[in-house]
Amino acid sequence: MDYIELRSFDNYIEANIVLNMLRHSNINCHLKDEHIITIDPLLSPALGGMKLMVHHAHVERAWDLMDEAEQEYLKNIPCPVCHAHALKTVSVTKNHRCKLSALVSMLLNGHSVEVNKIYRCNNCGYDFKELPQQEL
Ligand SMILES: [Zn+2]
Repeated sequence: MDYIELRSFDNYIEANIVLNMLRHSNINCHLKDEHIITIDPLLSPALGGMKLMVHHAHVERAWDLMDEAEQEYLKNIPCPVCHAHALKTVSVTKNHRCKLSALVSMLLNGHSVEVNKIYRCNNCGYDFKELPQQEL
């Protein structure tokens, strides 16, 4: 068990953006089930999406890099309620109180823990689960 599933993606483009970003930082990682999902996207939900597999020695750094990238991304998105640019993510793990214990569990058990993320506005305190759709 050298590689650990860090998260899964339903979206091929998003998966590759994250993969390239991590590889750029010398993280040893690859996508699992990428090939079959690209051929037949309808299979994606059945397989649980494309899985981002990260070498166990790089998991913690990969996680931090993904967090940083997300915070950067959120700076560009206004709060749907008060329109302030003050969004951040809050991780809510089901069985673990903090990110570190979730990580330890991943390393010990060799499988990922379900981490739910919510978004929170620092300005008005509004919590929401899905980012508002951006008009590009
Ligand atoms: Zn707000």
